Amino acid sequence: MEAAHEDGPHLHCEDPRKKYEHNKKLIGASTDTEKLYQAVPQLGNMFKIKGKIGEGTFSSVYLAIAQLRGGREEKVALKHLVPTSHPFRIAAELQCLIIAGGQDNVMGVKYCIRKNDHVVIVMPYLEHESFLDILNSLSFEEVRDYMFNLIKALRRIHHFGIVHRDIKPSNFLYNRQLKEYALVDFGLAQGTPDTKIDLLKGAQSEAQQGSFAYKPHLTLGSQVSVISTASRQLAHQSASKTAPKRPCSFPQAQIKQGHKRKEGSECHSIQRSVFGERNFNVRSSTFQDSSTVKLIKHPRVTDIASKKLSAKKKITSAVNNGLAKKAASTCPANLTCNCYAKDRVCSICLSRRQQVAPRAGTPGFRAPEVLTKCPTQTTAIDMWAAGIVFLSLLSGRYPFYKASDDLTALAQIMTIRGSKETIQAAKTFGKSILCSKEIPAQDLRKLCERLRGKSISSDVSTGDVQINPSQEHVLPPEISNNSEFVSQTPQKYIQYQKKNCHDGDGMNVRTSETAADLKGWDKVPDEAYNLLDKLLDLNPATRMTAKDALLHPLFKNMKP
Ligand code: ADP
Ligand code: MG
Ligand code: ZN
Repeated sequence: MEAAHEDGPHLHCEDPRKKYEHNKKLIGASTDTEKLYQAVPQLGNMFKIKGKIGEGTFSSVYLAIAQLRGGREEKVALKHLVPTSHPFRIAAELQCLIIAGGQDNVMGVKYCIRKNDHVVIVMPYLEHESFLDILNSLSFEEVRDYMFNLIKALRRIHHFGIVHRDIKPSNFLYNRQLKEYALVDFGLAQGTPDTKIDLLKGAQSEAQQGSFAYKPHLTLGSQVSVISTASRQLAHQSASKTAPKRPCSFPQAQIKQGHKRKEGSECHSIQRSVFGERNFNVRSSTFQDSSTVKLIKHPRVTDIASKKLSAKKKITSAVNNGLAKKAASTCPANLTCNCYAKDRVCSICLSRRQQVAPRAGTPGFRAPEVLTKCPTQTTAIDMWAAGIVFLSLLSGRYPFYKASDDLTALAQIMTIRGSKETIQAAKTFGKSILCSKEIPAQDLRKLCERLRGKSISSDVSTGDVQINPSQEHVLPPEISNNSEFVSQTPQKYIQYQKKNCHDGDGMNVRTSETAADLKGWDKVPDEAYNLLDKLLDLNPATRMTAKDALLHPLFKNMKP
């Protein structure tokens, strides 16, 4: 889309490569639209499809014009779900929109059209900004409104016992001009124990059982991404085998399964993939043994079930089987090992069945209890994600955390919230984390102001500048070479943020800003950081709820 737009005015240019790319884009877009018309012919009678506006693993979203009676026209969004989606999953997404949607910033639904296995959800269209594009031009007031409206949407869905599980800017549409907001995408939603969404009741109980997330029904349309994920993990692992030992300055965290919990087993249904996750990286934490963090399962845990499950996985998941199969076939079920607290996961541990817990969502937005696979997860996970969005808004950095796996994400959380605090909180939900280095919690205001570049001059004078090449060796090679990883000390993390985040020339702009165009960023009230602190509460039991957050002093004078 973007390239087509860029090339638009230069259609006559002679660059044949550009021309080819341009045509390819156009053809690609029109064939997608045509395919959709073919798959669901009724659409042709009702809509003029204008083009694709979003594409994910499980859906494509199109802008279309509905032809109404009397010649009136109305813009709609058509969400075409991949035909391999489980009917139950589709029905649940629809039910969330129907029951909770259409009010309080939750997207509603107009119709749903089905032809054979093709389902198209028709929603009102909300034109919206790209978060990244506007992030650095928002005033503090706009940020406050944005958060208020996001939390309002969360209060509504939580009231219905819906856990969204994928709160992030691309699922919260924002029309800056109209000051309109809409929470979309219930494709991963789950129910609370008392959910009012009938079709999420199953999801809830399955989630409580812990369900494996290999999505056999859903992988057909996304072979490529699945394969690339798996091969990346393999590459990652083999690279790490030969990597030199980490310098000890680098903190490592390990998670040990709590003693309180028994390992669930027989009740796991591998067939079921209806409410599984969307990112095909379930095994990443087990197999990533190269970077900062370790997942070590308790040596006493034995599981014969793992073999059976691995055997089933071979059938259901053609791509993820390599390592699992190998490990399972070479590991006697009840061996103990002594890799606990060491920086390598032994083959015995690699073969153990993973603890299962819902992990859907996007790594950088996952709450600590999700990252540590806590089996009981509540609406609090959405509040954490809202906190991460708020952190981006206050710091001007997006994505704030960019981790490719859960344990890296956990280490990143520690760099902001503190390692001791994280370990302490994890204990409350039965997880023990080992971290090789103590990392202090950071003051949120200082962190955000620093990242925004407000006190850039003082940063320079205190020597807080970008990593120079001679410093880079303190990072493990796989980290310094991979922009997806960040160093694990707060100082370095901030440097990473400065270096790698999409700040464009934001820093320079800001230093030349006058008081008039500071847009309220020079007087961010303490309440903002207080709310941020309460959303980013490491302990889900005490984390602020949406209902309470709307009553927070930051939102005084606003109508909840
Ligand atoms: P997915 O499950 O593939 O992520 P989403 O429901 O999140 O699908 O939609 C993908 C994208 O499509 C959104 O990020 C948004 O840009 C766009 N979109 C979805 N619904 C609407 C809508 N009602 N109005 C305008 N744009 C929408
Ligand atoms: Mg989405
Ligand atoms: Zn071991």
